[in-house]
Amino acid sequence: MRIRKHSLFAFCVVIAVTVVLSLGVWVGLDRAVDRVTKNEAESRAAHWTQYFYQNLGNLEGLIRSGKPTETQAKLIDAAVQFGDVFRFKVFRPDGTVALVSDEYRFINEGHTLSEVNEKALAVFQTGTSDITTYDGRLKDNRPDTYVEAYVQITDGADQKIGVVEVYLDQTNMAANLRSGFSWIAYALPFLCALIYLVPSLAFLKKGAIANAEKARAERLSKYDVLTGLYNRRSFTLFVEKFFGGNGDDTKPVGMIFIDIDDFKQVNDSYGHEGGDAFLRATARAIEDQLPADGIASRFGGDEFVVCLPGVSKEQLNAIAEKILAAVSNGIEYKGKTIVGHVSAGTHLAAGSQDIEDVLHAADIAMYKAKESGKNTVTSYTCDMEQELKERQRIEKLLRQAVDGTGLELHYQPINASDSKAILGFEALLRLQSEDGTIIGPDQFIPLAEKLGLIKPIGNWVLEEAISNAKSWPEHMFVSVNLSPVQFEPQDLPSMVANLLEKYEFPAKRLELEVTESLLMGDDGSVHKQLEALKEMGISIAMDDFGTGYSSLSYLWKYKFDKLKIDRSFVLGYENDSETLKKIIETIVVLGHGIGMEVTAEGVENDTHIDALAHMDFDQLQGFYFGQPMDANEAARVISADTLNTIQRQIAAGIEPEQNVA
Ligand code: C2E
Ligand code: CA
Ligand code: CA
Repeated sequence: MRIRKHSLFAFCVVIAVTVVLSLGVWVGLDRAVDRVTKNEAESRAAHWTQYFYQNLGNLEGLIRSGKPTETQAKLIDAAVQFGDVFRFKVFRPDGTVALVSDEYRFINEGHTLSEVNEKALAVFQTGTSDITTYDGRLKDNRPDTYVEAYVQITDGADQKIGVVEVYLDQTNMAANLRSGFSWIAYALPFLCALIYLVPSLAFLKKGAIANAEKARAERLSKYDVLTGLYNRRSFTLFVEKFFGGNGDDTKPVGMIFIDIDDFKQVNDSYGHEGGDAFLRATARAIEDQLPADGIASRFGGDEFVVCLPGVSKEQLNAIAEKILAAVSNGIEYKGKTIVGHVSAGTHLAAGSQDIEDVLHAADIAMYKAKESGKNTVTSYTCDMEQELKERQRIEKLLRQAVDGTGLELHYQPINASDSKAILGFEALLRLQSEDGTIIGPDQFIPLAEKLGLIKPIGNWVLEEAISNAKSWPEHMFVSVNLSPVQFEPQDLPSMVANLLEKYEFPAKRLELEVTESLLMGDDGSVHKQLEALKEMGISIAMDDFGTGYSSLSYLWKYKFDKLKIDRSFVLGYENDSETLKKIIETIVVLGHGIGMEVTAEGVENDTHIDALAHMDFDQLQGFYFGQPMDANEAARVISADTLNTIQRQIAAGIEPEQNVA
């Protein structure tokens, strides 16, 4: 508002100065015309006076008598026709009138006017002509512009004899001058405009543009350009009044944190324009569900936050649910329908709470909503905070672990189903916290995948497993678990090949375990990498079989070397033995049928051993044979197992094998 007032003031000043300048030019021109007219008149009057004196004959006599002779009278009548002179008066040296050109015939003989004309007297005494211009437009018998010129009359010997007042018609002269000067009169204001007004206006325009830019920048700093909602900064500033020192505990305030589910997919499928359209539609869907005092903002990316003062918990969650439903309606975009969803976290805060804590709580609840399957509303509870802290703690440890710091591999034996001898070990990763306690992989592997840290960590695991297994007996293999994320850069086969070469570790002693999730949505690159690994002689095992889709198509498409039946089958065996038994038997037969070895996981006790005894498993794995153990313990177990095997072989009258270390 202030900016506009300033501009208006500056504009008025510019206009006023231009008008004053233009008026000045007009007045100046008028004066110039007057000046030139007077000069011209003076010169004409002087010439005329000379002519008059020379031709009249005995002007001195006329001045004295005031009565012209007949000849003089004729000449007087002729003189008013000459040189634009339309009238004249002759004065005596004392300033009294001797003759008036258009009145002398009516004046009695010898009679003269006795009053003194001051101007005529002064001109007689000083010799300086007196010239005055008159506007005759409103006077009878007068031209539009005329001059009264008092000029001294001198005789042949330069003796002053009187004064003549000559009336000169200067109308044409002034008009000609004016029209001659008129182009200047018109051109000058234009010139003024050019050299003053135009730059001033340009300056003002620049100012106006700068003001508009400033206003735009202000708008941008306050609102999100894409959706028109408040941006994070202005939203936080705006709702701060409900919280902390400004807040009132008797008036709870609702906060909803909203995040679009799998927004990357929307962008990938419909391009950034489609993504933008969906963001705008989400903003509208949110706004449409809010009461009049609800405040919505786009926090950045695909995150939105809503503040609802004075709502109950039920109202808060109901609004969040309505937002979810409205977004799920989808939008029409370029003839297609974009269907997308959002997850929302809600928190009903006390007014005394700090705004950052309130936002944080709603954010945690939103994460919880994502974890529990997305497209859902979750309310904040205190234990979520603990969970988040734990996650942050693990994240910190993981970031330090990228070079192996705090990482440890444990090894769980995998035994032969018949002889029960150890055939190899599965490498299972552990993360050590600052206080020395061990964190299990289920707690940190998904987070490492999300944070993009699984690749360096996975590489460390492979190298550590290979370098350790190198010291084991040559018939023993090591099995390493791989995350689907490790297949994304497509350099896994070359990376593994380098490690095998570095440690001179035979490929056939390395087994890689993958899960079904790796194969879902494979565009061929996973298949290619698995083939390359197999070609090196590495064994590929399908892990946790029976838990996911257990799609049979994967089994023939990818040609695994081993099938590891998930431990839930064995562990659940006791509850529904007959059905489960049939399923397990079928899987074993199926695996063998397509040339795979089959391993049972989760073998914990004698019951399991007995139940599995008459099934045709190749390998067994579980706590019954050993918990995952560190490398030193694994070395001791290997020694003991070797001894056992030798003893068994001797007892059975078999020559002990050479390769049993
Ligand atoms: P998994 O591949 O199925 O590994 C076997 C898990 O079952 C291990 O848990 C092991 O301790 C546990 N287990 C073994 N025998 C028994 C038993 O008789 N009863 C029961 N109840 N559990 C048994 P752990 O070590 O916590 O590993 C969990 C999962 O973490 C693994 O499941 C694997 O998917 C993943 N994981 C472990 N290490 C790595 C790794 O280096 N990289 C990747 N990407 N994932 C890993
Ligand atoms: Ca495994
Ligand atoms: Ca498994």
